Amino acid sequence: MTDLSGTGTTASGAADARDAPLGGQHAVVTGGSRGIGAAIAGRLAALGASLTVIGRDRQALRHVVSDLSRTFGTPIGPEPADVTQPDQVRAAMEAAAGSRGPISILVNNAGTGKSAPFRRTDRALWDEMLELNLTSAYMCTREVLPGMIEAGFGRIINIASTAGLKGYPYVTAYCAAKHGMIGLTRALALETARQNVTVNAVCPGYTETELTTRTIDNIVSKTGRSADDAMAELAALNPQKRLVQPREVAEAVAWLALPGSAAITGQAVAVAGGEVM
Ligand code: NDP
Repeated sequence: MTDLSGTGTTASGAADARDAPLGGQHAVVTGGSRGIGAAIAGRLAALGASLTVIGRDRQALRHVVSDLSRTFGTPIGPEPADVTQPDQVRAAMEAAAGSRGPISILVNNAGTGKSAPFRRTDRALWDEMLELNLTSAYMCTREVLPGMIEAGFGRIINIASTAGLKGYPYVTAYCAAKHGMIGLTRALALETARQNVTVNAVCPGYTETELTTRTIDNIVSKTGRSADDAMAELAALNPQKRLVQPREVAEAVAWLALPGSAAITGQAVAVAGGEVM
């Protein structure tokens, strides 16, 4: 095929880059078995990335992998692991790289929110929220960053929350962890700025997933209000008066993962209908 552009890119190469802009990249998505993580996995696979999805529930992982494999032609595999366990994180990242090549995109998405008034936020709840929502991202990043620096390319995308940008009552531990994730993002972005490794956070508002269903169930059981009322209260926080959809978060992640987003680093991008600005 003739190089029509004079840049060393052939016409078919240019078409490939348009159709599969993440072709040749290997993305790892933690918590990729459902909700926001599954939507991110699907979007990255649609853009041509090879994919590893991490989570604890093996059956859920197998399910999402077989769905995505049927739809997209790129290599996709599950790596069961609890991201709060350093040995499991290391083994999963090594197995992922061994099966699908060096990891060039890491999406730290695994997380959960548990609520309690501060006076009932005991040490166990505090530690659980920090370990899952913050320390796990530190551990996953430590495993993959040296390879990204050596390769001269990397994209690290941390799924924080609007709770990383503002306070909400009754979730002090979750808010502290998500604020910490944004601090990690900003500091590491400066450390890797000269190495073509970008580090960004995506901050969803209340999004329609099982996590939000659990939040609604919790409001219902603690206040006796109806599920519709509880849902309306969460949606009312968003100026668009609705819950965010997982695919909307996935679009922001995909954009940050693209090679063309190289100048965007250290940012916290809210996907929240204008709730934070
Ligand atoms: P879900 O509960 O729907 O999914 C969570 C995912 O994380 C699952 O795949 C789960 O798999 C995985 N996970 C949980 N704990 C672990 C663990 N210890 N090790 C490995 N994987 C784990 O949550 P969402 O999709 O709603 O949330 C995804 C991220 O988005 C979280 O970080 C959350 O804080 C953030 N977020 C969510 C918002 C929302 O309104 N839904 C708003 C703002 C941010 P398994 O249980 O099998 O391990």
